[in-house]
Amino acid sequence: MLGAGGLLWLFFDPLTALLLLIGLLLLILLHHLRHMARLVNWAQKPLGTPTPVAFGVWDYIFASLARRARSEREQRERLAHSLARFREASQALPDGVIYLSRQHTIEWINAAAAGYFGLDGERDMGRAITTLVREPTFVNYLRAPAELTREPLVLHSSRQEGLTLAVQVIPFGDDQEMVLARDITQLERLDTMRRDFVANVSHELKTPLTVVNGFIETMLDAGEDITPGESEHYLGLALQQSQRMQRLVDDLLQLSTLQANQLTSVEDPVDAGALVRSVLYETEQLSAGKHAIVLDAVMPATLLGCQKELHSAFSNLASNAVRYTPEGGSIRLSWRVAADGCGEFAVADNGIGIGPEHISRLTERFYRVDHGRSRETGGTGLGLAIVKHVLNRHQGQLLIRSQPGEGSCFTARFPAKRLRLPVQS
Ligand code: ADP
Repeated sequence: MLGAGGLLWLFFDPLTALLLLIGLLLLILLHHLRHMARLVNWAQKPLGTPTPVAFGVWDYIFASLARRARSEREQRERLAHSLARFREASQALPDGVIYLSRQHTIEWINAAAAGYFGLDGERDMGRAITTLVREPTFVNYLRAPAELTREPLVLHSSRQEGLTLAVQVIPFGDDQEMVLARDITQLERLDTMRRDFVANVSHELKTPLTVVNGFIETMLDAGEDITPGESEHYLGLALQQSQRMQRLVDDLLQLSTLQANQLTSVEDPVDAGALVRSVLYETEQLSAGKHAIVLDAVMPATLLGCQKELHSAFSNLASNAVRYTPEGGSIRLSWRVAADGCGEFAVADNGIGIGPEHISRLTERFYRVDHGRSRETGGTGLGLAIVKHVLNRHQGQLLIRSQPGEGSCFTARFPAKRLRLPVQS
């Protein structure tokens, strides 16, 4: 045992002090080397591994590193979340979206684009789109210089019958491209319908106008040579044509009003019985005794709707029966409440009837089975289109049964919720 004096001696012995100092320095070095090894070991572990516990300066270093790692992890998570949200939103887009690399290989694709082009989001990743979608117009468009791809390409899909796409290439980022594809099938169909409609209206108006012009020219050329009888004859024919144009314009206006008001609902109480009786009266006037017209049944019920529109629809059906039933034929009108509570206005005739191939197209504007007969009888080709629109606005349906040579039955069916039945006492 060393006494206090011995300790003092040791302390001041320079060799021992040096050894002690070296030992101490070695200990410190070892401590740092150990922590450096722990740092290296930690750095090689997966992200998110907690930093080792230490003290002194290493505690400070590990704490700073842990803070930094946490903030980077949070930032990465935020970025991943934003990316996931962005992809989710792009997936939900009704338009097709494809990201392409500089070499036109697929980097990302949403579900709509996969459907439009027959691609698979996982299988086709990294493959050149030009080897997968081989439509020449699409491939040429993709390879065209940027100034030629500013306008979208209208692509009629060869994969899906009837599918029309508007495809546009938008350059972005570092030489990348985004392909946007929108389904414009419906738009194109509407555009075709609009063009056909304008052509039809022009044609319908042109014929009577040409006839009226012809009569006027004939009368002008004849000058004083025309007899009063002849002039009356020509003027009568011109009047018929101008009345035809008037009917056409009236029907067109009615149709466009119905289409404009498609979403508004009218629910005035209409006395269905009285309405049907007034249609019966008009039908008898139109037939002028050439047909046997019968009112089969009229059940008391109030129909909620627009009186004017319902009148127009019912009288269109009844006047068709008169116009397409030869003299001597019979026509039956009826209004009844069916067993399921629906209201049904029906017009049955034993006229010329309609072939089954025409039935589904009868409510198209200007669709006629027999053009000559329709015109002869003053038809505009818009009657059943008007009926269809009126029924749509009343949540109704038009049912057509017909046999060529035997006759037809047109039924306008209204949902039970549009009916108010009298209270039984
Ligand atoms: P139109 O003014 O030509 O009668 P509609 O739209 O009312 O136009 O009818 C379309 C076509 O449906 C008519 O041209 C006719 O060929 C056919 N049609 C309508 N109602 C009858 C019916 N009761 N009997 C036979 N054919 C009919």
